[in-house]
Amino acid sequence: MNVLIASGEAVPYCKTGGLADVAGVLFRELNAMGMDARLVLPLYGGIEREFDLAATGVELEIFMNGRLYSGSVYMHDKAVFIRCDELYAREGLYGDKAGDFPDNALRFAFFCRAVLESCKAIGFRPDIIHLNDWQTALIPLYLRMEYGGDDFFRNTLTLLTIHNLGYQGVFPREVLPALGVGEDVFTPEGIEFYGKVNFLKAGILYADILSTVSRKYAEEITTPEYGFGLDGILGKRRDVLFGILNGIDYREWSPDVDTLIESRYSAGDLKGKALCKERLMDECNIRLKKGAPLLSFIGRLSVQKGVELIVDGMDRLIGYGCGLILLGTGTREAEENLMSISLEGRENLHIRLDFDEVFAHSVYAGSDMVLMPSRYEPCGLVQMIALRYGTVPVARNTGGLSDTIEDYNALTDTGTGFLFDDYNLAVFLESVKRALTLYPFSRRWQKLMKRGMEKDFSWRRFASEYAELYKKALSGELGRA
Ligand code: ADP
Repeated sequence: MNVLIASGEAVPYCKTGGLADVAGVLFRELNAMGMDARLVLPLYGGIEREFDLAATGVELEIFMNGRLYSGSVYMHDKAVFIRCDELYAREGLYGDKAGDFPDNALRFAFFCRAVLESCKAIGFRPDIIHLNDWQTALIPLYLRMEYGGDDFFRNTLTLLTIHNLGYQGVFPREVLPALGVGEDVFTPEGIEFYGKVNFLKAGILYADILSTVSRKYAEEITTPEYGFGLDGILGKRRDVLFGILNGIDYREWSPDVDTLIESRYSAGDLKGKALCKERLMDECNIRLKKGAPLLSFIGRLSVQKGVELIVDGMDRLIGYGCGLILLGTGTREAEENLMSISLEGRENLHIRLDFDEVFAHSVYAGSDMVLMPSRYEPCGLVQMIALRYGTVPVARNTGGLSDTIEDYNALTDTGTGFLFDDYNLAVFLESVKRALTLYPFSRRWQKLMKRGMEKDFSWRRFASEYAELYKKALSGELGRA
């Protein structure tokens, strides 16, 4: 099977978030399973300095925005890079400190066209084009409009994976010429969205199949509460909308092999975890009574992650006798807000406004619980990592958190964490209190930790689930858009 993965980012080449891990790992795993998978990315500034790319000699000339844009195609192993220096040779992927790049509509419209042209030029005929997020979502539209009668793509199916519906690629109507499309597609049934152009909407309408990164999120995005205005059209395509959980790499994230933590440990021998906690408390200048729990938050300081509940509940949590560590980065405003709290000198609170992967390992290993009061969470990796480290999640019952955490039941002594439904401070604190009530009963708590540590959220599983979905689509079971 020939699979082309088109993405705005993928490890090891370029990364701003979890999408890069998913795309990069999927590419590697599909090839390991014997498929012929290619990855296609824009050639951003910096990639060439790190990787030895080979020119293919393929030149692309694409007419957009009233002129010709020239590109060329490079390869690194089976990864394909679209070079167009005036569009991509910058340090940021989608923007810089000043914000999003103003020509992003043109940059990714060009990318979408170049992906299709380069397939033809290098003679790679994909059975499946696997698209990821808005940056690649115009491809099904172009396939339908311009390649409709093209024999080359006659048997090609498209799958669009939505990693976060909060990012849709919405631009003013004036970008239509940059997309190389006319007013005829700018209708409510097409890519028009409240007077603007919406890239993701094109993908949702015209991709053959759709997926998102958990089953629960696949249901949620068809409702007004989580649909960001696209719930109506997602609901209409519900029969081809699937949920496949992301996974983590246990070679990097597992306390029995982790070289970045104070002491290794496993579900069979938890002694090392206590040493990790001591070391972490020392490092963060946290002094707790014996047997008091250490809580942490790791993630983007965004509205999505529910940071405001942590900030509003902080004094209460510390008042319950807990230590609290916050590791995150965000907008200048979010960081300044936390910075000022940090300077107020509370005891047993440690705030680190940095993206620090090494420290993150210590926090996962040394904490007793992680807090994830997210407003919405398409998949979430933090809770999967935490579970592996025996760090019990206290999380909102939404999206991937619902799919990966089983709420603790005191009667049956089952579950792997603590879930709460309503997004408000009182309900959040109630669920923390439920956890604190169990915590002193160390035998039950250890069983809870161990159940979480034994769960399997590895990336191997998700790669085979995508492979199954491709097969199902190609067998004709799912129909075409
Ligand atoms: P997102 O919505 O940001 O993709 P996820 O939970 O899916 O959230 O993934 C976040 C990943 O980034 C996790 O691996 C987490 O450990 C890591 N991470 C987030 N913030 C930080 C930080 N400040 N320092 C180190 N790692 C972080």
